[in-house]
Amino acid sequence: MLSVVVDQPQSMAVCERPTPDPAPGEVRVRVRYAGICGSDLHIFHGKNPFVAYPRIIGHEFVGRIDRVGDGVDTSRIGERVVVDPVISCGTCHACRIGRQNVCSQLRVIGVHRDGGFSEYACVPARNAYVVPDGMAETSASVIEPFAVAANATHRTGVLPEDVALIYGAGPVGLNLMQVLKRVYGVRTFITDHVDERLALARGCGAEADEVINTLREPLEQALARRGVEGGPTLIYDAVCHPSILEEAVRIAAPAGRIGVLGFSATPSAIPQQELTKKELTLSASRLNCAMFPTVIDWITRGLVNPGHIVTHQFDFRDVAAAFDLAERHPQQSCKVLLDFGEDSHGS
Ligand SMILES: [Zn+2]
Ligand SMILES: [Zn+2]
Repeated sequence: MLSVVVDQPQSMAVCERPTPDPAPGEVRVRVRYAGICGSDLHIFHGKNPFVAYPRIIGHEFVGRIDRVGDGVDTSRIGERVVVDPVISCGTCHACRIGRQNVCSQLRVIGVHRDGGFSEYACVPARNAYVVPDGMAETSASVIEPFAVAANATHRTGVLPEDVALIYGAGPVGLNLMQVLKRVYGVRTFITDHVDERLALARGCGAEADEVINTLREPLEQALARRGVEGGPTLIYDAVCHPSILEEAVRIAAPAGRIGVLGFSATPSAIPQQELTKKELTLSASRLNCAMFPTVIDWITRGLVNPGHIVTHQFDFRDVAAAFDLAERHPQQSCKVLLDFGEDSHGS
């Protein structure tokens, strides 16, 4: 099989690898589409502390089960599936209280073990969720980033009277926009420096006055001009620069909640006084905690539309060009998919 392998930081190639056989409890997926995520770029650049090289990357993928390991019902062969990348131990404290996405032994497909940028990938059978008939595979390939947004909103909670603010109109920010507007129906502002991304936010449900280019309009003035008094009550940082959290803590309304999604190692300077005075809640959110069924339901009911963020598809052999586009041309692209084609050369 052909796989996209990062053998060390800054070194990526499409390589011939032996096609793996599924271990007991696993299924083998013939991958069809896989989405490029910011964290794949981080692995490529050597900025993910959890990854061991060489690694077949990719954790957002969809395909068809073509083989199953011992203990897995053979009737699953042929199923179209989307893969939840979170593998947990089931016995640690976090797992026992239903927070398995922060398992002490967490293993993420495409990070700690080989992932979906490959013609074939073996994954635990329980991580492979059936894609309903009628759902396009390109749509199903962005269920994982929607699950990230679903998890963040689950962690903060969403109240009908919330006024929400999302920093950053990348794939995660735009998915948050759809979830907040279309699932919860709350007023939601979104910021970015790139007008093309803010135009995509309009397609994700944002009203004209809910998009703010903070290069042109200082955020607090923009919110005041739009009638937001006392600050947003619900904030998500989908930019994840340390300065954003500092600003979010400063502008949040009393009793506000802030969803934290970043992986920066640089400290943010946050006065305890701001947190305590307003009784702010910081809700960190990592990956997703069993959110795939929720997202599949939202898409099936037409509440959210994954097509709004998919801007490009590349043949996987052109992964270098796809990475270049995703990284260097945010005004031209949002979610970029790799196409691994239909089944051709068997196992
Ligand atoms: Zn991702
Ligand atoms: Zn665990």
